[in-house]
Amino acid sequence: MSLAKCGTIMSLMETIAPKRLAEDWDNVGLIIGDGGKTVSRIMVCLDMPDWVLEEALEENVDMIITHHPLIFSGIKNINTDSNLGRKIIKLIKNEISLYSSHTNYDIAKGGLNDIFAKQLGFDNLKVIHPLNIEKLYKVIVYVPKGSEDKILESFSRTGAGFIGKYSSCSFRVKGIGTFKPEEGSHPYIGNKGILEEVDEYRLETIVPEESLTKTIKAMIESHPYEEVAYDIYELINKGNVYGIGRLGVLQEEMSLASYAEFVKKTLNLSSIRYAGPPDLKIKKVALINGSGSKYLKQVKSAGADVLITGDMQYHQTLDALESGLSIIDAGHFGTEIAMVKSVAEYLKSFSYKQGYDIEILESKTNIDPIVQI
Ligand SMILES: [Zn+2]
Repeated sequence: MSLAKCGTIMSLMETIAPKRLAEDWDNVGLIIGDGGKTVSRIMVCLDMPDWVLEEALEENVDMIITHHPLIFSGIKNINTDSNLGRKIIKLIKNEISLYSSHTNYDIAKGGLNDIFAKQLGFDNLKVIHPLNIEKLYKVIVYVPKGSEDKILESFSRTGAGFIGKYSSCSFRVKGIGTFKPEEGSHPYIGNKGILEEVDEYRLETIVPEESLTKTIKAMIESHPYEEVAYDIYELINKGNVYGIGRLGVLQEEMSLASYAEFVKKTLNLSSIRYAGPPDLKIKKVALINGSGSKYLKQVKSAGADVLITGDMQYHQTLDALESGLSIIDAGHFGTEIAMVKSVAEYLKSFSYKQGYDIEILESKTNIDPIVQI
């Protein structure tokens, strides 16, 4: 068993929810703490109200991962006069790091929007409000014959060479590489001062923006040459589309009332609210976890019959109905609590595979504070 650093957990979280995906107004990442500190007990929760912080203190955790950030905007003082100040002081005094993945986790592939969609039986859905379209690069490297498979393996390992559901996608052509090792060089092939001609492959593959740095690093490490000759081109083709909300199509039409009942059951809710004609036939479903009301226009133009989200206010609901969009309000908590299990299971499986001595807890007190009777 080995010990993990807070920074290790941060990188793991950033693998599933890259910080660059977060909306501009958001505040994600390590909010409080020291990336170099060893962590052995981590608690995952949606929010950190007082009672969740107390639970974390009782459980003696050294890191808390929340969905909603504790600090959103600039604060001018940290003192015991405010609830926020008291919480910050408690965290620092008890050496507890606080990390948040918020809109970046909502938006990410396999993140909360996708988890929510999966809970309702949808897969591979269209993004309703695109915010970020992934850049793609072509990497071309010149490899001596015999080393091509090793380089290809380094591509696959670092997220390069994926096209749709295909991995290890590459192209290679044989050719002759030339070089003359100069003074101070340590050539893998050939001798100083002599022009060499070597059988080489021109190996090329496609790399998404987020993998580029690690792909180049792994490629250079796997390459036998002292100086690796390679080119990187930015492509006009685009990669994954990241954004808010997902649009799914039901296999069979359902009435609004029975679909609302299905959502309630599937999300294991004690109650649910809906607005729209109960017998309206539903086929296209939009999902936005948390508060989706500010995207009503985009949802409508995506052609959805109904939006499932949380936090719908009276007037926003009327606006939606007037535009011909029905609403199922499953609550902010109801549409997001799946984050806790999902992040905890992800960290547990990493910890198990890597032999890390970390205990991952799911908060027991972070329950829906709103009771509907
Ligand atoms: Zn939320």
